Amino acid sequence: MRVLAELGLLDALLPQTQVIRRLHCLDRRKRALLDLHYADVAEGLHGAGTHRATLLNLLLGAAEEAGARVEWNRPIGQLKRDADGRCRLIDAQGREEGPFDLVLLCDGAQSALRAQSGIPCKATRYPWGALWFIGRRPPQLAADMLWQRVGSTRELVGFLPTGTKDDLVSLFWSIRLDRVEAWRAGNLDTWKSEVRALVPQAAGLLDQIEGQAQLSVAAYHDVRMRRWHGDRVAVLGDAGHALSPQLGQGVNLALMDAAELARALGEESSLEAALNRYSARRRAHLRFYQVATRWLTPLFQSDATALGAARDFALPLAQRIPWVRRQMILTMAGYKTGVFGSRR
Ligand SMILES: Cc1cc2nc3c(=O)[nH]c(=O)nc-3n(C[C@H](O)[C@H](O)[C@H](O)COP(=O)(O)OP(=O)(O)OC[C@H]3O[C@@H](n4cnc5c(N)ncnc54)[C@H](O)[C@@H]3O)c2cc1C
Repeated sequence: MRVLAELGLLDALLPQTQVIRRLHCLDRRKRALLDLHYADVAEGLHGAGTHRATLLNLLLGAAEEAGARVEWNRPIGQLKRDADGRCRLIDAQGREEGPFDLVLLCDGAQSALRAQSGIPCKATRYPWGALWFIGRRPPQLAADMLWQRVGSTRELVGFLPTGTKDDLVSLFWSIRLDRVEAWRAGNLDTWKSEVRALVPQAAGLLDQIEGQAQLSVAAYHDVRMRRWHGDRVAVLGDAGHALSPQLGQGVNLALMDAAELARALGEESSLEAALNRYSARRRAHLRFYQVATRWLTPLFQSDATALGAARDFALPLAQRIPWVRRQMILTMAGYKTGVFGSRR
């Protein structure tokens, strides 16, 4: 939100979002594993549920207004360097653009270009992902909170209200990616009963699902880099640090990358120094969220069911300790830069 405010876009976005005041996660016995309120950290602090398309439209409009030329349907397949180190981009039809002084790689978790950038990187895919459905929010699902219900580490369902004039809500259901085909071939009503058993309030949303094809599949990736720049190249967003969406921070991190890169380019007189500054400024924040999601993901989505028992024991106790509770909320709000550090 701070980055969007700096760009002058926040006021246009907020009416298209749903105010989220609270994360509420219950276990199968209806005990609160997590009940975290943003306002406990600062009055007026809240999340904003929205669709990526809403945000994307807004950012694209602003970029075009600022003079950017947008080329659609031109996947870039190759990054080539001239003798002076400047980059050229070659699209799937072999058409070339450039040379450019600086190339920003923002091609997402499965980036085809980062391997050609010369920046060391390790990318893996999690065995678990999610089924996804967007529908109209039934009144029984309160609008101002992120709902999560968990069973063992193999059962997780969540609902994120995302506003807009249609009053939408996103449903996500955790699934092992190698079980998606079996789920698609299985009985839809059996699955709906499972979801209803965890969240009876979801009945009105489940009624909007008539076939498995209405749910899309999302895979999660873990991308590790020690620095997010190379010679005349910077990597932003998921291409440089995709993580599992357990903490819902991917968009925040990508927007903050862009803001810090712009700031570093404005502050330094040489490109090399600006790129070094960019990586240095992003390191602590990115590291914290990457390590935190790597630790958290198996507690909520894995075959390690013993971890689920430990989670059910530890989380309700941990959130009663005021310092820990505050750190949990700061984490959820995107502020953390280390176990003890935060931007707030
Ligand atoms: C299931 C799921 C739930 C999530 N939930 C949340 C959440 O609640 N909150 C949150 O903040 N984040 C969430 N995220 C993460 C968030 O979606 C990402 O972090 C965010 O979209 C990253 O933005 P990006 O621009 O880096 O990459 P992307 O959004 O992946 O965009 C990459 C773009 O590059 C284009 N592209 C790819 N290859 C090429 C190429 N070769 N040439 C040209 N263009 C190319 C793609 O078409 C795409 O438009 C979630 C992710 C998943 C999978």
